[in-house]
Amino acid sequence: MSDTTISTLRERVRGAVITPADDGYEQARRVHNGMIDRRPRAVVRCVDVTDVRTVVDAARHSGHDLAVRGGGHSVPGFGTGDHALVVDLSAMNGVRVDPRRRTARVEGGCTWGAVDHATHGFGLATTGGVVSTTGVGGLTLGGGIGHLARGCGLSCDNLLSADVVTADGELLTASNDEHPDLFWALRGGGGNFGVVTSLKFRLHPVETIYGGPILYPLDHAGQVLEFFDDFIADAPEELGAFFMFQIAPPLPFIPEDRHAETMCGIVTCWAGPVEKGEPALAPLLEDAGPVVAHHVGPMPYPALNSAFDGLYPEGLQHYWKANFVRELTPAAVEAHLRHGPLVPSVHSTMHIYPIDGAVHHIPADATAFAHRDARYATVIAGMWPDPDDNEANTRWVRDYYEAVAPHSEEGGYINFMAGDDQGRIRANYGANFDRLTAVKATYDPHNLFHLNQNIAASTS
Ligand code: FAD
Repeated sequence: MSDTTISTLRERVRGAVITPADDGYEQARRVHNGMIDRRPRAVVRCVDVTDVRTVVDAARHSGHDLAVRGGGHSVPGFGTGDHALVVDLSAMNGVRVDPRRRTARVEGGCTWGAVDHATHGFGLATTGGVVSTTGVGGLTLGGGIGHLARGCGLSCDNLLSADVVTADGELLTASNDEHPDLFWALRGGGGNFGVVTSLKFRLHPVETIYGGPILYPLDHAGQVLEFFDDFIADAPEELGAFFMFQIAPPLPFIPEDRHAETMCGIVTCWAGPVEKGEPALAPLLEDAGPVVAHHVGPMPYPALNSAFDGLYPEGLQHYWKANFVRELTPAAVEAHLRHGPLVPSVHSTMHIYPIDGAVHHIPADATAFAHRDARYATVIAGMWPDPDDNEANTRWVRDYYEAVAPHSEEGGYINFMAGDDQGRIRANYGANFDRLTAVKATYDPHNLFHLNQNIAASTS
């Protein structure tokens, strides 16, 4: 890119234009996954829609790659790129709550922590991820699985409208009434269709939840997993819970002599009337298996949603794999019991997220998120601090994935998938894939937005 383009950007945008020659470049080029080491031509900290349009136009005219960064948590590092222009939305982080209509208008660079904080003040919440540092943009556009999904649906199911800067630099509002094809594609299709500068969400009366983590000994993992599977099948939709393998971190609620021991666990979140939480969770504390430690009780929803942030600091090495699962067969459980206990780092984990309940109330073709028939989304999330351990940790994820894949659907949740999973895109969307390629042809025929789990435009 010529220096003229950079100087034009500097003249036209109000946010900072950070190039290799500028202070702060080393920080600005980084994303959450420390394994990603790319050198963009410029990172532009957009402050408004005009800034975003200017960068989109510059990328289109100059022919350089365009990366869009919300919270920067994409494991394959889609929020940056070598020689790319980066639309960094982190400064666009305002939230406006309308308590009467129970909606929130959220700017495209917000994290879930900002949304939780703003909505909790009104006793309201919507489905976000299970940590507070992830970006609302990337998480919602891919689907959005979290504590409230069984009761309130995916994050994308709560999206009411979105402002989008498309590849030609136009600003469109997408909703059920305006550009409904684009609105359909945004709800699960990822960052393929434009830069979403603002998202309007439906909120739910969720304030104090009853929940927290429960840890069980590893030698009871089979019993706990089977109990969890049966329990979730009949559990009220207000109950969120996911199963995990986890090395016990040094937290006060875990006996000191059990720190660093590999365990299994269930993280719970009862979002119904708080007084009904204790009986709702009793079977998991009394019947699922002998409890080593738990931290279950009433707490503000944002407290649960940020409770695990410390396990996932910026800069860890990441490699993840994912699947959708219709049924946890005995063979699948056996594969989990073989590989889960080998989890190599306190940061790494394997989660089994139920995506039934409210997620199943929406027809599979109503949004781009297609796997409404799956009961679970599983993720094998490898995270570790030292690059010298990359080979061993990546191997754990790959071996685990190879073992469970035959007992899973062909596709997986795009936000949990690796950069080497581009070959699985069609399977991720099933019957919705062809419609997605047609929407792509309408709004981004030349694939300007290609640094993502990419859906190429149909040519017909
Ligand atoms: P970014 O890296 O900024 O962006 C990811 C992708 O989305 C890119 O392709 C980007 O171009 C696009 N994008 C982002 N914002 C916009 C925007 N405003 N407009 C257009 N495109 C945009 N997922 C869950 O569903 N539930 C979880 O509980 C969960 N927990 C996680 C915990 C950790 C520690 C991490 C690392 C990830 C987690 N994820 C979870 C996965 C998460 O959904 C994805 O990593 C998601 O891509 C993060 O969005 P982001 O905006 O932070 O990422």
